[in-house]
Amino acid sequence: MLLREVEYARPASVADAVRLLAADDGARALAGGQTLLNVMKARAASPDALIDLADLEELRGIELGADGTLELGPMVTYTQLMESAEARARPILGQVAAQIADVQVRNRGTLGGNVCSSDPTNHFPPLMVALGASFTIRGADGERTVSAADFFLGVYMTAVSPGELLTKITIPSGAGASDAFETVPIGRDGTCIVNAAATVSGSGTRVAIGCVDAVPVLVEPSSSEPDVVKEAVRAAQLDPPSDVHASADYRRHLAEVLAARAVERAAKGRS
Ligand SMILES: Cc1cc2nc3c(=O)[nH]c(=O)nc-3n(C[C@H](O)[C@H](O)[C@H](O)COP(=O)(O)OP(=O)(O)OC[C@H]3O[C@@H](n4cnc5c(N)ncnc54)[C@H](O)[C@@H]3O)c2cc1C
Repeated sequence: MLLREVEYARPASVADAVRLLAADDGARALAGGQTLLNVMKARAASPDALIDLADLEELRGIELGADGTLELGPMVTYTQLMESAEARARPILGQVAAQIADVQVRNRGTLGGNVCSSDPTNHFPPLMVALGASFTIRGADGERTVSAADFFLGVYMTAVSPGELLTKITIPSGAGASDAFETVPIGRDGTCIVNAAATVSGSGTRVAIGCVDAVPVLVEPSSSEPDVVKEAVRAAQLDPPSDVHASADYRRHLAEVLAARAVERAAKGRS
């Protein structure tokens, strides 16, 4: 289906991008376009203006700090995450990026677009919650940083308000931590039915479960024993949706099994 006519701008600086977004409530940032253009074609979104971030090199960086902290620009693509030497400081980032769709989507799709979509079936929201990522958001009034726990607000809703731009994603050091991701997709590279991202470190075990609620559900079991993890997931009293792909009961079952598997694999990675 053809897109309806829309204004288009390709700013040369982040400051210009923010100015353009703040000037028009109907303006939307355009990253890889892998979600936004599809929802526009389906007439499920109808922005007045697209602010294309393609020329903003400052949003494409991957920086590894001396303490192991990773700073990722939102325009970093999945392919970059798979190939970057710096991103290998947290190998789970490239491993999860490699699971997304096909090579075309991985070459165009961006980490920032993935999290800003806040699609409950996407791979990266639960991973960001498990890793304890934080998000820097810039608007006309300046910059603020929010934790992953406060970033995802609902289906297609995040802490990025109209007129604002996500400018940085910070992943804390993975020193002493081991991570794993488990999913049951629809078909080999398809949409996740349920997924689970786990981090096991000296400070405990975190597992974030996706596709069972509007936003990832974080569970912090007291140990990495599978029965303890499953009990912690049960205690979270998940209320997932039923659809043509899976019933709510099956999703609840997958949530327990995938969380336990992800934690077990992460724990093994530390030993
Ligand atoms: C065939 C296919 C299969 C897919 N399968 C999967 C899958 O299995 N798992 C998965 O996780 N994803 C999947 N996706 C989605 C894909 O990962 C998209 O790349 C991602 O959801 C959006 O990234 P993007 O860079 O394309 O963003 P865009 O589509 O350009 O933007 C998405 C949204 O984010 C906003 N946005 C983007 N960047 C910023 C920013 N810096 N600041 C503020 N707002 C911003 C846009 O305004 C828009 O609302 C699939 C896509 C396709 C086409």
